[in-house]
Amino acid sequence: MRSQFSRRDFLKISGGTAGLFATAGLFRGPIKGVEPKMVDTRPRWVKETTTICPFDASGCGFICYTDSAGNLTNMEGDPDNPVNRGSACSKGASLIQLHNNKHRLEKVLYRAAGANDWEEKSWDWAFGEIAKKVKASRDSGFVAKNAAGKTVNRTEAIASLGGATLDNEECYLLSKMLRALGIVYLDSQARLSTASSLEALAASFGRNAMTNSWTDVSNANVILDMGGNPAENYPACFSHLGEAMGKGAELISVDCRLTRTAAKAGTFVAARSGSEIAFIGGLIKYVISDIEAHPANYNMTYITEYTTASMVVNSNFKGPADLDGMFVGYNTASHSYDQSNWNFTKASNGEPVIDKTLTNPNCVFQLLKKQYARYTPEMVSATCGCSQADFAKVCAFFAATGKADKAGAIVYAMSSTQHTSGAQTVRAYAVLQMLLANIGVSGGGLFALGGESNVQGAADNGVSWNKLPGYLSAPNEDDTTFAAYASKAGDQSAASLLKAWYGSNASSSNGFGFGFLPKTDNNTNYSYVNAIKQMAAGKIKGAFAWGANPVVESAAAGQATQALAKLDWLVVTDMFESETAAFWKKDGVTSQTEVFLLPTACSYEKEGSVTNADRWIQWRNKAVSASGEAKSELEVISSLLSRLQTLYQGESGLNAEAITKLSWTYSTNPSAADVAKEMNGYKISSLQQLESPEDLRADGTVACGNSLYIGSFTNAGNQMARREQTGAFHAGGLGAGR
Ligand code: SF4
Repeated sequence: MRSQFSRRDFLKISGGTAGLFATAGLFRGPIKGVEPKMVDTRPRWVKETTTICPFDASGCGFICYTDSAGNLTNMEGDPDNPVNRGSACSKGASLIQLHNNKHRLEKVLYRAAGANDWEEKSWDWAFGEIAKKVKASRDSGFVAKNAAGKTVNRTEAIASLGGATLDNEECYLLSKMLRALGIVYLDSQARLSTASSLEALAASFGRNAMTNSWTDVSNANVILDMGGNPAENYPACFSHLGEAMGKGAELISVDCRLTRTAAKAGTFVAARSGSEIAFIGGLIKYVISDIEAHPANYNMTYITEYTTASMVVNSNFKGPADLDGMFVGYNTASHSYDQSNWNFTKASNGEPVIDKTLTNPNCVFQLLKKQYARYTPEMVSATCGCSQADFAKVCAFFAATGKADKAGAIVYAMSSTQHTSGAQTVRAYAVLQMLLANIGVSGGGLFALGGESNVQGAADNGVSWNKLPGYLSAPNEDDTTFAAYASKAGDQSAASLLKAWYGSNASSSNGFGFGFLPKTDNNTNYSYVNAIKQMAAGKIKGAFAWGANPVVESAAAGQATQALAKLDWLVVTDMFESETAAFWKKDGVTSQTEVFLLPTACSYEKEGSVTNADRWIQWRNKAVSASGEAKSELEVISSLLSRLQTLYQGESGLNAEAITKLSWTYSTNPSAADVAKEMNGYKISSLQQLESPEDLRADGTVACGNSLYIGSFTNAGNQMARREQTGAFHAGGLGAGR
């Protein structure tokens, strides 16, 4: 709620207070011989523009204040944004420095092969050169058919990293462009942080996002922070935890460090880094035993009616307790599972066999009990390095949220997800929360602390080697026809996406242009980490880093530097000269890589939407223009693809139609709103925007870039931009134009 106490009131009172102190002789009087002069340092503005913080995925709102000359004079937390309610953490408080900063790049910079310094270049020159290099690398590394003789139409010579710092519309266009070019080594920073969490959340709850809004954590009775440290990493969201604590909630911190969150917690358990999965496994075992001993303390209706706990699994199923940590069906050659024995036993009516007593040895509940039997307090203590007494205390606190009128929240971040077992860890959190019926209740759920501001949006919009926008599976070598692919991905979503990408060149007669898309090989990893390895191996010749900084953000800075040094060319978009752009300046690095450093706009120097960790899509408005010649990534992507279309129309190339027939009706500087409309989708004949997923069609009459975002830009307008831009944001504000 907006405070009734305005800054004008504050200044009146503080002025009066100062007068009081002066009268009392606490302030020194004027210095003799020096004429007193009033200096009004209060910021002035004539315009207020709302934006969203670009530093992490909380989605905090900010207001940009600009004066009559268009200068950015101040930025403050937006009091009407429900996430931060007007507050700004130390990172957010420095937001103005992204624009008012003498280190911002203002010109295109180019490092020639082996050169020791940058040269300033024009955008026109850069787009032309980059387009030529992309074409040369793409065509030389093009794989029309794979080793199995299947048509895959991909290039393995170019990688694209980044996207989590971009707006959704930029991510969407990036995904569209990269697929048309046949690039399969493409990934955003989500791979390094949130991707494992999103996979586990989708497998558990059907959607790749956390279960609640951040504000809802204020309704929890117990909050279990598994190393997330929101007090420092997510300060705005921590205020909602604080609200819960103010209402009597217990905060438990399980962390290898005594953090500021731990300092605020009622219970702190020091546990080894990376041992979360064992800790939660122990909690699952405790809760299962307690459910059997004291069912009245748990919401048995939820467990038996709303989870799979009561469903009976195929009698041939064997789990880790039977097979020394493995599940039945493991193929040691392909390192994959044949899951044919993992299905539910079906009754004669085709429905799964149910045992609501939860005693059938093959029901999910009993199989879980068997699997987690070895997670004893002794084992948890030995693995996590915590005392059994501390562990028992956490068990008692958190299991108490299993009562129907209680809610428990699990908060987690990279300490849970940035592991090879990240997806399994988050899946274990989900299992625990379902056993405790902490799903679908206010204050209960899984709260994922995402890293970069649009890490969720990048994943939603297909900046990922294995997902297209809307989490449609990226096609692989087995998807030999559109029909084969659509039977897995869903024909309505798939046809609508291809209509958005290939327009009139996509029809039922050509499988909606499905053949244009690149296909990956099975059991091959094209992710961020492997892209770095393939650069180091010399297989990848050219790379893009879209606001990404692999020299800093990837696991091994030295390896990333050496990998970049092997490239023929590297394109970096950034506001500053990042470590990645300047990798060749590092001591001991010898490299012939040509580097194009393209200056780009910051989040409030352009418009577009951003999706926070709990999937609120919020619109960022443009408050000021970027200084110098910096452009938005939307303009960079659009200009580059336009150049490539011209190049391929003139010179051709393998699978060139994937590029030349791509529907790219935007100008070189497209409006984010136009791209957002395409993402939302529309009926092709009437150009009416889609209002609901039910509007999707498999017959090619609908175009929809991201079925997940239907409803974001309807016939009523941009639903992401409904935050008011007129009227007084602050009653009694100091605006010069008031
Ligand atoms: S908590 Fe995150 S999103 Fe909010 S102001 Fe701080 S850095 Fe920005």
